[in-house]
Amino acid sequence: MKKQESSMENTQKDHIFTEIYMGIHTVMVLMVLVYHVYSQTMAGMMTVMLVIYGIYIGFELYLFATRQILKLESMLGGYFQSIMDILFISICSIYLENYFFITLPIFCLFILTASLANHRTKSIIHGLLTTLGYLAVGILNGYFPLGVVLFQGVLLIGFSFFVGELNQLISDVYKRNHYAMEEIEYKNQLLEYRATTDFLTDLSNHQAFYQSLEVIAEKHAPITLILLDIDDFKAVNDVYGHLSGDYVIREVSQIIKKQLRTSDIGARYGGEEFAVLLPGTGEPFGQRIAERICTVVAEYPFEFDNQKMRITLSAGVCHSTVALNRGEQTMLVDQADELLYYSKRNGKNRVTSAQFK
Ligand code: GH3
Ligand code: MG
Ligand code: MG
Repeated sequence: MKKQESSMENTQKDHIFTEIYMGIHTVMVLMVLVYHVYSQTMAGMMTVMLVIYGIYIGFELYLFATRQILKLESMLGGYFQSIMDILFISICSIYLENYFFITLPIFCLFILTASLANHRTKSIIHGLLTTLGYLAVGILNGYFPLGVVLFQGVLLIGFSFFVGELNQLISDVYKRNHYAMEEIEYKNQLLEYRATTDFLTDLSNHQAFYQSLEVIAEKHAPITLILLDIDDFKAVNDVYGHLSGDYVIREVSQIIKKQLRTSDIGARYGGEEFAVLLPGTGEPFGQRIAERICTVVAEYPFEFDNQKMRITLSAGVCHSTVALNRGEQTMLVDQADELLYYSKRNGKNRVTSAQFK
């Protein structure tokens, strides 16, 4: 998931830089065209050159539009596009004759975008290749003294190193920031988990149960609430010890969880009391689920520290056919509680169910 996200980020980043590349090429072609139309010196070679250049840009644009641009960028160890781009920009700039020097900022921009799109080594190699292109063109162009061209070449090399280092610095800061954000996100999730989950059973805790009830009961109808309480649990602690008691609570929680759908909420309501919220479940099914939980628990062979135990549950089940507001939600819990205590008073190990009134 994380990998997919970061590769998507990279693709987006590459696309932005490819757009800038296209922009540079377009500016280059336009500049040469305008210059030659203005000075009326459109040579035959120049026309051929511009046609080939146009085909190359068209091909790049096609790959860009069909999201295959990365294929081009990875050819020749990732240098194919650089070499081709430098070649075209350099040849174009030869035709600018005594206006050749105005290509210097374009070469700088070219180094800058290539550098920001790549890692440090690749960015510096790209800078050196670009400088070689610029020097070759400057010397072939012949309108400027060699010293001036060399000086500009040194400036370009310096610029590529500067940009390469700057890029490294930016990506280091970006990475650190990215890791920090990931850690914060992880810790937030952990905090939320700890604040809403009961540590012993991994079920929702009391507070999270009420939050779920508030959200679900306001929207879902029908809805069923089951309150379950372990029978004579004090005796379990007294006879088998507190650790056995904890074990029983954990096992009962697992049994409850296994009987629920993912949309249902199972919570540890109190010490040895559980609440189950069944959104979209009405009278017969809600009661059946409560009965199934009680039956499975009654038949389950609890054993801790070589001590076998028999455990039973009592349940109160309250159904509502309509969605409930805050006040009614509290009444739903109270009514389920009364039904649970009805089960207790009538011999335990049973389910009492009624419609919400
Ligand atoms: P009844 O059938 O009426 O429910 O009787 P009971 O003994 O189960 O009910 P009561 O509420 O009197 O006792 C519940 C006991 O559960 C008291 C408390 O010590 C114990 N208990 C609560 N939380 C925990 C827990 O996390 N671990 C253990 N081992 N015991 C717990
Ligand atoms: Mg009890
Ligand atoms: Mg109790």
